[in-house]
Amino acid sequence: MSARPRVLLVEDEESFIDALTIGLNREGFDVVVAADGQAAVEAFAPKHFDIVLLDLMLPKMSGLDVCRHIRSQSDVPIIVVSAKGEEVDAVLLLEIGADDYVTKPYRLRELVARIRAVLRRHETSTAPLTNSVSVLEVGPVRLEIDTRRCFVRGEEIKLRKKEFALLTLLLENVGRVMTRDVLIDRIWGSDYVGDTKTLDVHIKRLRSLIEVAPKEPAHITTVRGVGYRFERPGA
Ligand code: CA
Repeated sequence: MSARPRVLLVEDEESFIDALTIGLNREGFDVVVAADGQAAVEAFAPKHFDIVLLDLMLPKMSGLDVCRHIRSQSDVPIIVVSAKGEEVDAVLLLEIGADDYVTKPYRLRELVARIRAVLRRHETSTAPLTNSVSVLEVGPVRLEIDTRRCFVRGEEIKLRKKEFALLTLLLENVGRVMTRDVLIDRIWGSDYVGDTKTLDVHIKRLRSLIEVAPKEPAHITTVRGVGYRFERPGA
C-alpha cells in the first residue's frame, strides 16, 4: 500500500463528495471521485486504488453492478455505502464481494475506522505467508496458498477472498468438524456482517464449485447443529 492510500470514491451526491474528499484528505487518503457508475468502471484500474467506497444508488449503473465489475478484475477492498431506509441485502453484498458496508448518515470517524480495518485485513490476507504450507491438496481440491490459486479436479476455479480463506481453513482441518462459531470467528472475526446465513452462503458457493452433486455434498458436509467438515478422502 502506498503511504497515502488511494480511495476511489463512487458517489453522486455533491454534498457527500465535498465533505468526504476534504475529510479523507485530512485523514491521509488520496481521493479520486467517480460521480456515476459508468465513471466508476472507467476510473477503476487494478492496482491503482487501495480501496473503493461505493454508493449503491448511482446514475447510469447501479452500485451492485459496479461492485461485480470491479470484483471480476481485482480483489481491492470495497466498502458499500447505502442510504438510510434503502433495503440492503447484506448476504447479497457479501456474495458479490463487498468487504463491508455502512449506512448514511455516518460519522467520518466511523467511516475512516472501517476503511482502516478493511485495509489492515486486506494487507494481512495478501501478505506472503512464510512458514506455512504453500500447497494444500485434499481430495479433488488443490490450493496454492502463496499464489491464492485453487484447482478442482485439475481445473482452476476463481475464489473470492473469504471463500479462499474458508476453504483453506476447512482443508487445514480435514476430517475435523469446524463449528459455525469457529469458522465465523476465524474468517470474519468481529466484522461478520449480516445474519448467520452469511457462512452458509459461502459454503453453498464452495459446494457448487467443488462438489459433483452440490445438493448431496461428499466433501464439504454439514454436521447438523454444529458446523461443517471437509471429509478426509477415502474415510
Ligand atoms: Ca447515491
